[in-house]
Amino acid sequence: MTTDVIAIDGPAASGKSTVAAGLAERLRIPYINTGSMYRAITLAAMRRGVSAANCTEAALAPVLERLQLDYVRNDAGHFVLRMDGHETDAALRSAEVAALVSPVAALPNVRAWLRERQRALAAAGRLVMEGRDIGTEIFPDARFKFFLTATPEERARRRPAQSGENFDGATLESVAAAIAERDRIDSTRTVAPLRPAADAVLVDSTGLEVDEVVNLLARKVME
Ligand code: C5P
Repeated sequence: MTTDVIAIDGPAASGKSTVAAGLAERLRIPYINTGSMYRAITLAAMRRGVSAANCTEAALAPVLERLQLDYVRNDAGHFVLRMDGHETDAALRSAEVAALVSPVAALPNVRAWLRERQRALAAAGRLVMEGRDIGTEIFPDARFKFFLTATPEERARRRPAQSGENFDGATLESVAAAIAERDRIDSTRTVAPLRPAADAVLVDSTGLEVDEVVNLLARKVME
């Protein structure tokens, strides 16, 4: 069986979100950014006093028990993430959330909680879903799988421009170091580590414009 999902995975700041949103727009189908879901759990956990020092499954359990996370369609037909009934905001893109999200995302109970919700989203029909483990864990039977990369230098340059993250006072070196640390944790965790699915199409976007990457993916999908 194949699931009608276009899975786009890759490391931090590889341009996945921009490309995934562009591809979804081109194909006129919804787009889900699963990184935002991990960031929302992280923000909820921080509000309940979780930090790097006590980031454990036990600390996250009560957070998951109370958190309500859903995607609702807005007037334009786009899926918008709501956290406890409110639209998520710039807080998800803060440097503090970025620093804690990978340890939170490594916890098995957090991943299980989201796996169930992410799989349920595909019931709504064809969509583009972007993250780290969409082609490997969430939808191993996705109809299309892409793994997007770019050199570390290019990713560090793109990050502040693309993500809307707050990088006040950050240098290219500190951004590169934060990205590398996130990728290290994401690729070495026990559950659903970041890696390309065996049947994913690898796309190196270094030196390419967003449109060029979107064109490349759209061609593969329409072939
Ligand atoms: O894509 P974004 O940079 O917003 O993702 C934030 C973090 O969420 C990643 O560094 C990773 O730790 C986690 N994540 C994940 N699995 C996904 C999507 C994101 O572990 N499918």
